Amino acid sequence: MLEKIQALFAQIEDLHAKNLEELEALRIKFLSKKGCLNDLMSEFRNVSSDQKREIGMKLNDLKRKLQDKLNTLRQDLAVQEDEQDDLDLTRTPYPIALGSRHPISIVKQRLVDIFSRMGFTMADGPEVEDDWHVFSSMNFADDHPARDMQDTFFIERQPDILLRTHTSSVQSRIMQTQKPPIRVICPGRVYRNEAISSRAHCFFHQLEGLYIDENVSFADLKQVMLSFARELFGPDTQIRLRPSYFPFTEPSAEMDISCFICGGDGCSLCKKTGWVEILGCGEVDPNVLENCGIDSTRYKGYAFGLGLERIANLLYRVSDLRLFSENNVKFLEEFTAAN
Ligand SMILES: [Zn+2]
Repeated sequence: MLEKIQALFAQIEDLHAKNLEELEALRIKFLSKKGCLNDLMSEFRNVSSDQKREIGMKLNDLKRKLQDKLNTLRQDLAVQEDEQDDLDLTRTPYPIALGSRHPISIVKQRLVDIFSRMGFTMADGPEVEDDWHVFSSMNFADDHPARDMQDTFFIERQPDILLRTHTSSVQSRIMQTQKPPIRVICPGRVYRNEAISSRAHCFFHQLEGLYIDENVSFADLKQVMLSFARELFGPDTQIRLRPSYFPFTEPSAEMDISCFICGGDGCSLCKKTGWVEILGCGEVDPNVLENCGIDSTRYKGYAFGLGLERIANLLYRVSDLRLFSENNVKFLEEFTAAN
């Protein structure tokens, strides 16, 4: 057995590898489970006890030398590769094209910027949610159509779990864990079981805002919405609130802005009405506050929510919603200047 070990020692110095494949072959031959060294280890069990010490040391020595040699060969190969790279001075630089921000990200960033200057902080929450955070806490009746499989993606085996249909679930989580005053915006992706077309998609992005404190009134909401609209669409923008219904707000309103293309005279964007619908808002329903553990006799609040795709459509006149998720580089490059 000593002879075999000596023979291997003699081989080590002459080992060489031209590339990584050859190096791997050497590793398999000597150090793998079926390699020479393992064979010797098996043989070692049968060595008489008076020889065990001497042979054991030699085996360890052999193993270390083999590992060192292969490591050296690996380093040599890496250095060679580097040198080869450095040598080719005629090579054209690797074409790394700088991307641009996605239009939805641009819009989100602008809104976050506007609302953070008004004192809103950003909150985030899970996209896979439970029924309570998405619907029950938000005052949805048990038979509300949103709870229908046709409208919402439920997990078949566990119908309590679903993909959130709005970012209100984040509001619900915030109200449960924070004490008023609360002033947050929650941007995020939401999912609805819609047939995909130029005007609807199975997912889109929302940004919702929530403000809860003592003495909050509808007038506060109106002023914040006016400031926001003027920041985003220009200082001459007017807003109009129309009565509406949402389960989680009372009273509720749809908000229109005066058309920023024609200034109210009527054009194709505003369908000759002079007004463009942009968001929904209202005073937080006392039931929602109570559901989330906030005393509705002491605190009031307002909330608003808008679709980022809707705003991007208005700002950039994108006619087909699907473009936002198709990864079409030509389309995305259109927004380089908007960054
Ligand atoms: Zn117009």
